[in-house]
Amino acid sequence: MTLAEAVAQAGARLAAAGIEDSRREARLLVCRLLGGGPELLLGSPERALTDGETGRIEAAVNRRAAREPLSRILGEREFWSLPFALNAATLDPRPDSETLVEAVLAEVAERDAALRLLDLGTGSGCLLLALLSELPAAQGCGIDLSAEAVAQAAANAQRLGLAARARFLRHSWDDGLALAPTPWDVIVSNPPYIASAEIAALAPEVAGYDPAAALDGGADGLEAYRSLIPAAAAVLAPGGLLALEIGQGQAAAVEELLVAAGLRPLRRARDLAGIERCLLAVAAAGG
Ligand code: GLN
Repeated sequence: MTLAEAVAQAGARLAAAGIEDSRREARLLVCRLLGGGPELLLGSPERALTDGETGRIEAAVNRRAAREPLSRILGEREFWSLPFALNAATLDPRPDSETLVEAVLAEVAERDAALRLLDLGTGSGCLLLALLSELPAAQGCGIDLSAEAVAQAAANAQRLGLAARARFLRHSWDDGLALAPTPWDVIVSNPPYIASAEIAALAPEVAGYDPAAALDGGADGLEAYRSLIPAAAAVLAPGGLLALEIGQGQAAAVEELLVAAGLRPLRRARDLAGIERCLLAVAAAGG
């Protein structure tokens, strides 16, 4: 079989499985499995594939047809133009979450400041590491309940050359942040915020493959914020910034929790679809 034939066949399989962007995904999946990008198909469409290659392609196409996301099959997702390896314990980073990175950077007056950053429920480490990549003198800590996620985030930091400024701990925010007590200048989090009953109705790529612990926000979707916000408020430096990703329609309710914890809501940031996706709040300046 030639490369062009393999891509055409994969595209037909994915279309039959109801994958919307089947041709583009097929091209990307096959070319990436062969170690290149979509340019492989343009450059050598007649390249003959080995049996080993067609076997690997077939196995991957079967996984995608079962609605496993491309990023999980390839083991990697690009976020903030950086590569992040994923595992079963990490949420697949979304472009929506780049809204938070952008919103935080817009508030940082001095990019070279020695800021201390904390990421609650870090998963792949994408939020913290994207910020560290833009803030050369900053140091950061990411915590996650999952040891597997912590290991993945640490490996991502290593690969991105950020390990000297990032540490990752297995830790919960439920009873405060005893393991990460430093006053932090910036705290970020993309906590689970989907109402439990709504998870089953999400796309099969999300419901079936993102870890439940990274999605499930309890009965009303706000459970994580109720423990996270007071814990963060207690370790935020005077004048420090808290940036939270939120689900659609949650802004007002989460702002109430921010105010109740003594923080001052600063602004809401919208994602590319125009949905309020991130809330910024500041701690009182102290003194
Ligand atoms: N962005 C995910 C979704 O809407 C949810 C992630 C989360 O709960 N933090 O599918």
